[in-house]
Amino acid sequence: MLLSWFGANARDLPWRKTRDPYAILVSEVMLQQTQVERVIPRYLAWLGRWPTAAALAAASPADVIREWQGLGYNRRGLNLHRAATHIAAHGWPDDLTELPGVGPYTAAAVGNFALGRDVLPVDTNVRRIEERTGHDFEPAAAQALMDLGATVCLARVPRCGVCPLAALCPSRGRRYEPLRKQSRFEGSFRQRRAHTLRLVADQERPLSELDGEAVASLARDGLVRVESDVVALPS
Ligand code: SF4
Repeated sequence: MLLSWFGANARDLPWRKTRDPYAILVSEVMLQQTQVERVIPRYLAWLGRWPTAAALAAASPADVIREWQGLGYNRRGLNLHRAATHIAAHGWPDDLTELPGVGPYTAAAVGNFALGRDVLPVDTNVRRIEERTGHDFEPAAAQALMDLGATVCLARVPRCGVCPLAALCPSRGRRYEPLRKQSRFEGSFRQRRAHTLRLVADQERPLSELDGEAVASLARDGLVRVESDVVALPS
């Protein structure tokens, strides 16, 4: 039922047209904290520029940080670069969580979608469906579950009337409390960091012109370097 629903309703996503582990890794890291619609053009541009792990490894961290601008949570870009450097030098590790920035979910997603491993990547959508249905799904259902969670089994008001699992679902017809909102970006320290990094990505600048706290935090993450009171991207 679920798989035939997926056959008719699958979202057309560019990373579903490949089984290249590097391309899947890029998509999964971008999707960690950025919405699908915003990721699609950035994923295509990234692969156009750096089509392989070796190509990305050969890029400078500064170029990677510039290319990542606008996706948010910039450490992800830097970690992706570090992961590519590891892959280019040593190949893919068996345990993908050895790669920088790759946690159990991302490892499971790359394992399933690219390497055909028998593991179900459980993101928020998949977990929600498992909790509501009380069912443990097979790894082969991963993409279908992700689309079902994104378009039908929604967090607050699920669309049970069009759900392929409705006949067996004990939660059918329920409504849920609004989720906790993500903390506001406007006026946040995250925004100050993003603004500061954008300025430095444009050109190196004297420390005195910048938000010192944001610079210190960015430097701790390796996103900028400070030398003789001048702030620049890592070389
Ligand atoms: S019937 Fe409703 S609650 Fe159950 S899986 Fe489908 S959409 Fe979610």
